[in-house]
Amino acid sequence: MTGDVATWVREARRIVLLSGAGMSAESGVPTFRDAQTGLWARFRPEELATEDAFRANPQLVWDWYVSRREMIGKVDPNAGHGAVAGFQRRHPGRLTVVTQNVDGLHQRAGSPGVLALHGNIAEDRWLDRPRACCVAGNILAGRPPRCATCGNLRRPAVVWFGEMLPAQVLADAEEAAASCDLMLVVGTSGVVYPAAGLARATPGRVVVLNPHASELDDAAHAVLRGTAAALLPALLQG
Ligand code: NAD
Repeated sequence: MTGDVATWVREARRIVLLSGAGMSAESGVPTFRDAQTGLWARFRPEELATEDAFRANPQLVWDWYVSRREMIGKVDPNAGHGAVAGFQRRHPGRLTVVTQNVDGLHQRAGSPGVLALHGNIAEDRWLDRPRACCVAGNILAGRPPRCATCGNLRRPAVVWFGEMLPAQVLADAEEAAASCDLMLVVGTSGVVYPAAGLARATPGRVVVLNPHASELDDAAHAVLRGTAAALLPALLQG
């Protein structure tokens, strides 16, 4: 089966690699399915990564993001990220990365034009519609920082559960999915939509790379059971 998939990679004119949290697991970034550790062990991410949670307890949610940013700042892209970026360097324009990850590791590995469906954890934005006073020079440091004049809060620039995806990024991802002949689905449980819908809508062949069963296995032409860092370097070596 790996041989078939390697042939599909060689023959494909346009490839989309759709990645999820498992892509970064071997860098040391826990997936949402992994148990949280330390201070955060008693919270479920689904209860923290929402606008309601932030409005109810901004400091708690902000501090969780501070700890995730610190953790992500200490890790490096793994061999899987490197293999993807290397393939893109050798074959300009043939592979588009669409990721649900907010950790920026594809970008740090050197992948160009990453479509980050769920935003970037390193960035902030205003919680409520910014007024004239909400400008960079008028931010009061705090947990979270706020507008010194009107109190509008800064929040992480990620897509929380229940929120819309950035429209242009989603449109670009849909177009890439609609025009590819091969989609590699790496390290995603396939339960979060609309990201998972890209794998169901593509006319191209779908290959799932995941050490465990996923919700997208039934949409796949082939399933490779293994990890991103173990499978991708061999698959994308050409
Ligand atoms: P998920 O946590 O729901 O699923 C992770 C998947 O990765 C599972 O299917 C698991 O079997 C697989 N996996 C685990 N280790 C792997 C490995 N080494 N190689 C390949 N696959 C592996 O993640 P999801 O599907 O991305 O959805 C959860 C949401 O959480 C996403 O929207 C994402 O934005 C967010 N999230 C992002 C990060 C990140 O940026 N690194 C981390 C956690 C959660």
